Amino acid sequence: TQYKVQSITGCIHRIIQLLESESTRLGHEIHFEHPGQDLRMLMDQDKMLQLLLNLVKNAYEAMPEQGIVDIRLGARDGMAVIEIADNGKGIPETELDKIFIPFYTTKDSGTGLGLSICHKIVQDHEGVIEVESVLGLGTKFTITLPLTEAEE
Ligand code: ADP
Ligand code: MG
Repeated sequence: TQYKVQSITGCIHRIIQLLESESTRLGHEIHFEHPGQDLRMLMDQDKMLQLLLNLVKNAYEAMPEQGIVDIRLGARDGMAVIEIADNGKGIPETELDKIFIPFYTTKDSGTGLGLSICHKIVQDHEGVIEVESVLGLGTKFTITLPLTEAEE
């Protein structure tokens, strides 16, 4: 693993770009709100991209056509806060504590590994991942990660 100081803002732009043709195919959109200045942190960039990709893919799979994924990036108390919200089918309250467990899936051909990998990646970066969901309305994942000191 390769930890370097890199831009989180850049990673999110990269994911939007990577998913461009799939977004068009599915009729989905990603909206991205971020501060003017680049937010940088010590990261393994491949892992960070995998984390974001897993979360947006899940969002895409939870929405019928023409869904919107809202990504918000901000900084608070030396931490980057990334919110990834969809307007998909939501997660029942009784299932919320299971979704990070390896092999938990509600999909016919799901592996159930995506979120357990996300959890590990966030932990390896000394961050926290949380989920809020309302059945029928949508789901929001919030990831909090330490910024490099210069950004505090
Ligand atoms: P998989 O995508 O292979 O099912 P994940 O670990 O990525 O495995 O997700 C586990 C389960 O959590 C999914 O099967 C789904 O039930 C639920 N889930 C994850 N993200 C969302 C989301 N954005 N909206 C609704 N359900 C979700
Ligand atoms: Mg998944």
